[in-house]
Amino acid sequence: PTKRKNLNNLIHETLSPEIITLLQEVGELADEIGFKAFAVGGFVRDLLLKTANLDLDIVVEGNGIAFAKKVAEHFKGKFFPHEKFLTATVTLPNDFKIDIATARLEYYESPAAMPMIQLSSIKLDLSRRDFSINAMALQINREQFGTLIDYFNSQSDLRNQVIRVLHNLSFVEDPSRIFRAIRFEKRMNFHIGPHTKGLIGNAVAMNLFGKSRDSRFLSELKIIFKEKDPLGPLVRLAEFGLFQYLWPDLRPNYRTDRRFCHGIRQTKAAIKKLYEIEPKAKIDKSVAFLLTIFHRSGPEEIQAFCNRFNEEEKICKKLLQTKQRCDALLPILYTPMAKSELHQHLQDLNYEDLLYICSVAKKSHIHKSVLDYLCQLRHIKPLLKGKDLMEMGYPRGPKFSEILNSLKRAKMDGLVSSRADEEELLQKNFPLSNLHC
Ligand code: ATP
Repeated sequence: PTKRKNLNNLIHETLSPEIITLLQEVGELADEIGFKAFAVGGFVRDLLLKTANLDLDIVVEGNGIAFAKKVAEHFKGKFFPHEKFLTATVTLPNDFKIDIATARLEYYESPAAMPMIQLSSIKLDLSRRDFSINAMALQINREQFGTLIDYFNSQSDLRNQVIRVLHNLSFVEDPSRIFRAIRFEKRMNFHIGPHTKGLIGNAVAMNLFGKSRDSRFLSELKIIFKEKDPLGPLVRLAEFGLFQYLWPDLRPNYRTDRRFCHGIRQTKAAIKKLYEIEPKAKIDKSVAFLLTIFHRSGPEEIQAFCNRFNEEEKICKKLLQTKQRCDALLPILYTPMAKSELHQHLQDLNYEDLLYICSVAKKSHIHKSVLDYLCQLRHIKPLLKGKDLMEMGYPRGPKFSEILNSLKRAKMDGLVSSRADEEELLQKNFPLSNLHC
């Protein structure tokens, strides 16, 4: 039975006026060409939970690509069709993104001599979704604006905080849904329903993962790495026996493998610290977490993982190179050294390299060194500039950067602090008389 109710009040309590206007306008555009239009999936789930969700997925009963084009024209946005899937993405001038999909009408042979049954296409679309909580639609056409469509008892699952698949073959159809189930469970503090849990057990026992080279596993795993706390879902993956497919050389029992959990916590803390220092840092979190997980693995294991899940060549190379570079550097960093030397070792490393070092280093002074490098050393510049050197009579040339670098190193090591100190050092180490002859 369909449960329909109007969510107008909730919409006005929860959504911003801009989003409401957007939904109304999109609905009216659908009216103009006689399509039914719905917001679907996570947007509706999060509306009912009164949490903001800025990913708007629209499904229309009609040609989604033609409709997306109309929406893009109306809002003067950009339009990116994906012909093969009859979907399109529209990006509005303010960068807001709307994904538009087509719900196709399908006809079913009914038993015996009964006529063909036409299944409402939105129902069919919703029935193909992963979990009941993600399988609701909110109609946005003007007359029906705000009508919630719930064919699968989704509202009750949402109330009871249950993750439930819509049919028994759901994980056989798409095993990556197991990652999704775990992600939603941990993120929303829900629980995977007992029947669904049993189906996950069956899917794992059927070795659906062992056989597959599906890149969807990796993309779902990467979404887990982007969650606020990836350790919860990772531990759950271990509980369901999935580590043996992901990282066969680890096979950690999550209860005893403190090192695994410690590494993940360290990476999370290091990422947090890095964002505090550099709020706009571009960090590939999955590379950072994968490197920590692979800390005790060899290059063959990393390569095998990348092959199994069709990881991009470029990322695979990055994983291998970072690990090799940083594993070689770690023992050097354990020994005491001058700050200028530390700077020299770290200056060519990228953020993922530094995160890896912090995550796996066993001595806390290495964390301090990396912090010192990020907060201070890499910003240190001598007071004297190239033009000062010229004014002092130094001839322009390759020697210039050597001189400036030596001043920089001296400043890092606290050997100079004022302009006079720098001039004195220059006269001592690079006397003009020597340079001219
Ligand atoms: P999030 O808040 O993480 O973005 P979401 O529910 O919006 O959650 P998406 O991955 O953006 O998740 O997917 C959008 C919708 O598409 C889901 O709500 C779900 O209905 C459907 N969906 C996504 N992946 C699958 C899948 N593997 N199988 C079936 N339906 C899926």
